[in-house]
Amino acid sequence: MEEKIAYEKAIELESIKSQFFSNISHEFKTPLNIILATMQVINKNIENKSIISIEGANLDRYMNSIKQNCYRLLRLVNNIIDISKIDYGYYDIELGNYNIVSVVEDITMSVLEYVNNKGIELVFDTEVEEEIIACDPDKIERIILNLLSNAIKYTEADGKISVNIYSDKENVYITVSDTGIGIPEEKINNIFERYEQIDNKLTRNFNGSGIGLSLVRSLVEMHEGRVWVESKVNEGSKFIISLPKKTVATENVKSVDLTKSKVEKCSIEFSDIYK
Ligand code: ADP
Repeated sequence: MEEKIAYEKAIELESIKSQFFSNISHEFKTPLNIILATMQVINKNIENKSIISIEGANLDRYMNSIKQNCYRLLRLVNNIIDISKIDYGYYDIELGNYNIVSVVEDITMSVLEYVNNKGIELVFDTEVEEEIIACDPDKIERIILNLLSNAIKYTEADGKISVNIYSDKENVYITVSDTGIGIPEEKINNIFERYEQIDNKLTRNFNGSGIGLSLVRSLVEMHEGRVWVESKVNEGSKFIISLPKKTVATENVKSVDLTKSKVEKCSIEFSDIYK
């Protein structure tokens, strides 16, 4: 009886904690968006010279730092909100029939500049031109951006990141490989767990939260797919996603134009990369 009461209390406490996290995340979001909007106005004023700084004041650098760190907070908050929505079963995915090859290619190409800036080569290659499957392009973008941002984080300059697509009878496979630090064998089964981070000198340079990959796994599973990783320390990692070749009934093939919001999405997802 005592055990049962303790168990129920623990569950209730867990639920209160999650609720608290979720509420506080929403509370963070409003002021953060206000800071970002205000900053945009200040930047406009700097651009049109309504605000002038004396030479050497480094105004641009400070403004950039504010933006970068707002994006980092926004990413964290978005991830916490999404994770709690998933836990409570409120997270919606909007499946439509899309050409997964172009969805993945577009999002990969949109980060080319970021990757090249770090001295890393980025290559996209596909064995199939077109593969129409049921997916939510917004979520696919989130998945790929997450994997790419990790690949960039854990790969040194002169490294290489490749995104590949191939398919068999049942599935489409998307792989994101890097020539980075790799993942130790004993950790490989844990990295998709929430809050799991590998403690080493390089990873400690980045203030990750350990929720990125758990979110990736949940999003892939919502598409009835699977994600796993093959890796060797000091050689690199390869994340593999398989998505079933299914389509949604009575749906036409849709195409996406996410370019408008893409720059901002990348800035948010990649905000951990620049320190
Ligand atoms: P974080 O916010 O810490 O990046 P993730 O869930 O995205 O959280 O990743 C969990 C851990 O998995 C990371 O802390 C890192 O140690 C490891 N990891 C993820 N991707 C890679 C990669 N491409 N190469 C090496 N290690 C990786």
